[in-house]
Order: sequence, then C-alpha cells, then structure tokens
Amino acid sequence: PSLTTRLYSEEDSVVILTSATVKQTLLNSSTAWLVQFYSSWCGHCIQYSPTWKALAGDVKDWEHAIRIGVLDCAQENNFDICKEFGIHFYPTFRVCASQDLNYVGADRELQTVRQLMVNFLQNHTTQDWPVSCPPLEPYSSADILPLIGQKSNQYTAVIVENEDSYVGREVILDLMMYQGLTVKRALSSEKSLTEKLGINSFPSAYLLHPNGTHAILHVQKRLRFFFSSFLKLLLGVHRKLSTSGAPQELPVSLIFSRSKVYMADLESGLHYLLRVELATHQTLEGEELKTFKDFVTVVAKLFPGRQSVVKLLETLLEWLVSLPLEKIPFDAILDLVNNKMRISGMFLSDQLQWVGCQGSRVGLRGYPCSLWTLFHVLTVQAASRPDALANTGLEENPKAVLQTMRKYIVNFFGCQECGKHFEEMAVASLPQVKSVDQAVLWLWRKHNQVNGRLAGTMSEDPHFPKTQWPSPDLCPTCHEEQDGIHVWNEDKVLMFLKQHYGAANISPKHMY
Ligand code: FAD
Repeated sequence: PSLTTRLYSEEDSVVILTSATVKQTLLNSSTAWLVQFYSSWCGHCIQYSPTWKALAGDVKDWEHAIRIGVLDCAQENNFDICKEFGIHFYPTFRVCASQDLNYVGADRELQTVRQLMVNFLQNHTTQDWPVSCPPLEPYSSADILPLIGQKSNQYTAVIVENEDSYVGREVILDLMMYQGLTVKRALSSEKSLTEKLGINSFPSAYLLHPNGTHAILHVQKRLRFFFSSFLKLLLGVHRKLSTSGAPQELPVSLIFSRSKVYMADLESGLHYLLRVELATHQTLEGEELKTFKDFVTVVAKLFPGRQSVVKLLETLLEWLVSLPLEKIPFDAILDLVNNKMRISGMFLSDQLQWVGCQGSRVGLRGYPCSLWTLFHVLTVQAASRPDALANTGLEENPKAVLQTMRKYIVNFFGCQECGKHFEEMAVASLPQVKSVDQAVLWLWRKHNQVNGRLAGTMSEDPHFPKTQWPSPDLCPTCHEEQDGIHVWNEDKVLMFLKQHYGAANISPKHMY
C-alpha cells in the first residue's frame, strides 16, 4: 500500500487528493474545502491523523457545504504541487473557497477547527456561496414570531442560544441533507421571542409542527448531537436522496417499536438463510461445510428462540455431528428441515414476515437487517450465558460468534461487496477482541462503521435513516460530549446492548 493509504483510506470520510486531482477538485468546486497538506513521515501528522479522521466523520453531513481533504506531500508525484501551493511545514491547513486559498492558523483541536469551518461558511453564505449551504445568520423575533401557529408543509426547528454558542449553526449544518425540516438559529437576546416561547435557558430548541402546533423540544441533554439526532428521527423528515424524487410515502404495515427486537425478524432471517441463501449451494464441503457446522452449533446453542425452532436447530446439529461425510448435498439438509423434523413438531416457519426489519419498499432492509440482528443477539447470548457453548469445541473462544459470523459472511452472504468490506474490518481489528463483552462491543462498533459508510447511499431506506446507533432517545446515557465532541460511554453502551438484544427484549408479537 502507498503511504497515503496507510495514514488515510477511503473509509475515513476524507477525500484523498493527489497532484492529478487537487486543482480540478478544489478550484471548480461547488463546496468549500478544508485540506490538510501533510507528510506521511512527519510524526506529528501521524499522531494527528485520528483527529482529522474524527473531524471528517463528525462533519460528514456537511459535505455539500464543506469537505475535508488530505494531500500527502511526501509522495514523490505530489512534490511539485506542494511546492506550488507553498507548503513549507507539515501539517498545513488551508480552507479553499472557489478561487482563493487562504492560510489558516494551525490550532488543531477538533472543536476549534469545526468552529473555524462554521465561521468560514457563515462569512461566505452572505455571498450565496457555497450554494447548498443553508443560511447561518441568526433570525430575529420579527422573522420567527409570525411563523408560530402557522400551518406549513414542513417542520421548523428554532435553536435559541447565546451569541457565542455554535450548537445552532452546527445543528443547521447537520440537518442540511435532510428534507421535511428547516432549522433556524435565533439569539437569546431576542427578548420578545424568548418570552413568547417561554425559553429561559440556552441553548434550547423549539419545534413548529406542520399542523401549526408548537412546543419546546425536550431532549435529555441540550447538546448538538441530541438535538440533531432528535430532528433526524421526526416522522416525515428524510435524508434527501441523491437520486431525484421524494421518498415514497408507503405506509409501514405493522406498528412496531424501535426499542424491541422481534422474533419474527429472527425467524424470517433464519428461514431465508437456510432455505434461500444456503440452498443455492448444491453441496457443502471443506471450508463451507465447516462454516455451516459452526454456524449451526452457535445458533443451536445460543438462539433464544421458540421451543420448536431450537429443537430443530439442535437436531440438525446432532445430525451434522454424527455424519462422517466430507461432503453433504444441501438437499439432504433441506429435506431434514422441511419434512423429516416437522413430523416431530420441530419446525421453522417458511414465511417472510419482517416487523422491526420491514422496509418501505421491497429490496430495502429485510434479510440483511435480520442478519445483523441475529448476530447481535448471539454475541449478547454468548456474553450472558458463559456455559452455553460447553462441549462444542468453541467454549474457550470469546470470539466464537464473531468468527462464525465472519466465515458465514465471506462464504455465503449473497452481497459479496459487503463480505469484502466486513472481512477488511475483521482483519484489522478482530484480533484485539479478548472477551465476550468486547465481542459484543466490536460488532456494535463495526455495525456503526457500516452505517456511517452507507448513510445517504442507495442502501438506505429513507424511512429508516442510517444513524449512529443507539440514538439518544433509545439510550441517553450512552452519549456524552467532551470538549464539544460526541463520545460514547462504552460501559453504558454495553449495558444497553445486553438489555436490547437480551432474550427478555425479544417480542413474540406478529408471529405466525
Ligand atoms: P441495519 O444496518 O441492517 O440494522 C438493523 C437494525 O440493527 C437497525 O434497525 C437497528 O435497530 C440495529 N442497529 C443499527 N446499528 C446498530 C449497531 N451499531 N449496533 C447494534 N445494532 C444496531 N450494505 C451495503 O450496501 N454495503 C455494504 O458494504 C454492506 N455490508 C454489510 C455487511 C454485513 C455483515 C451485513 C450483515 C450487511 C451489510 N450491508 C451492506 C447491508 C446493510 O448493512 C444493512 O443491513 C441494510 O442496508 C439494511 O439496513 P437497515 O436500515 O435495515 O439497518
């Protein structure tokens, strides 16, 4: 790998610029750019790269206004361009706006850089550039008061705060890719507004609903992430699609709760996995057979399901273990699952019934959603029932569930690209997992990484935007802020995952 790819990769939300692309990219851009010219041999730059990646992730939703780039001046083919740009020290930061390139002082705390970006955008939006950047100037009482009680085709959220606070402008930018909502900023010095809205602590958010009703927005902590996350999840607020056209307003057919896990999803997933995905393989042998056996072992021992399903899985496992064959025709497995076992009351429904995993149209959510859900449930079971895998050969291995998942995804998961990405993540960080609790957290972390990568792409169901999960409404204590940066409280996340994916939270509702 090149030096550039060692410090930064496409996974990082930063745009990797080179001498071949930099001018064309920066000078003809409809967005502003914040570029770090670095050198891959400079220790300072290496130490700084996690901050820069974190910044790029933090402001990913602002990318139609400002984007984050890197250019490695230590690469031979970039020598000339760095000279042309006059880069003498590393790292050097530049905000690039249309034709002008300005040096920016290298105060490098994430929060400071982010505030600098906001100031920069605010100064430029007065000149209507970048075109997609929403207005960041505060609104006056006279602008806002007439809206109160009015019907509208969208929500308006008003963040009222002190002049030196950045929360309002950051929330405006966080929501710029969303439709169905406008966010405005007003200052706490607007007395007639604060009196009318009954707001006396800042920052506060006030929400005007499309139907004319209005109220203070209650969040657990009055922080940027809590406000943004709440607004993104409002009914009728969607991420704008890159393909044109509004998201279809297909009704979600079954009422379900986001704070529950549904047995119907888990069983539908197992049905699809066994009877559709695996059934495309005529015979199982070698690595595939081993993967299948491990998979059946893990689910038979850990799946907290209905008696009829668990019995079926256990019987399938006994059958596989007792067979000395090196090669098994998949038809034999299907025959066992579909016919032989049914007689003794062991069965797995052959209906696809998505509840928590239902999508707003066919092709969205469904099976991959159920597969994530299944493996989260299994990692949590492995952590809460330490003896469950006794005598399987997997009992000593805290990564048994994750390794089984990894092998399943690589060998069988129909989406090959997904498998490739997952494998890359596993190679990079699975060896660090040393306990069953860390396994639970690893899968959560990697799932969020995938969510981050897929947000705004065509895989996203506009009715179920991909967010960093669990959102503050599901687990307020999981979220904290340190120096203006969102951080997870991982102890609380672990507790939450164990509760959310625990057997007691799996709802039997909507089961056939
Ligand atoms: P999903 O991401 O499927 O999540 C299902 C449910 O899990 C959510 O509704 C939520 O309740 C919960 N959840 C969300 N985040 C977390 C978390 N961090 N921890 C615990 N629970 C959480 N699609 C692609 O287009 N490209 C890919 O590269 C890709 N890779 C994939 C890799 C794997 C291993 C899998 C299983 C799927 C992959 N997919 C990929 C599919 C994609 O991740 C989604 O599953 C799919 O788009 C459906 O999304 P969803 O909205 O139903 O939510």
